[in-house]
Amino acid sequence: MGYITYGKTRSKRGQVELVPEEERIKVMGTHEKLKTPVEHEVIMERLLKNRMLNPNSRRNIFPLSGLLYCEKCGFRMRFRVGENKKQGQHWSALCYHQYKDGSKCEQRGK
Ligand SMILES: [Zn+2]
Repeated sequence: MGYITYGKTRSKRGQVELVPEEERIKVMGTHEKLKTPVEHEVIMERLLKNRMLNPNSRRNIFPLSGLLYCEKCGFRMRFRVGENKKQGQHWSALCYHQYKDGSKCEQRGK
């Protein structure tokens, strides 16, 4: 929100501890604001909602979702969770792209 906070932690007898928010030094920074207080509220609300969501509805979100593109056709890769005795739980990136002529992309995934 444009603030710079100093003294988030302090060490006491060699132990690092977190300083209560009201005891921290907070000043208006000269750097550009990344979010306004209103945006901050909205973001915090969104985070809270995400946390309350049924984990099953977020099952299809993977660390690389939206970041991996197929080398052969250039379309986005999709992810799938698999489970078998040999590997345990694992996930794979696959290309489900279908060309206009109906043929499927040759990418087998990994
Ligand atoms: Zn592909």
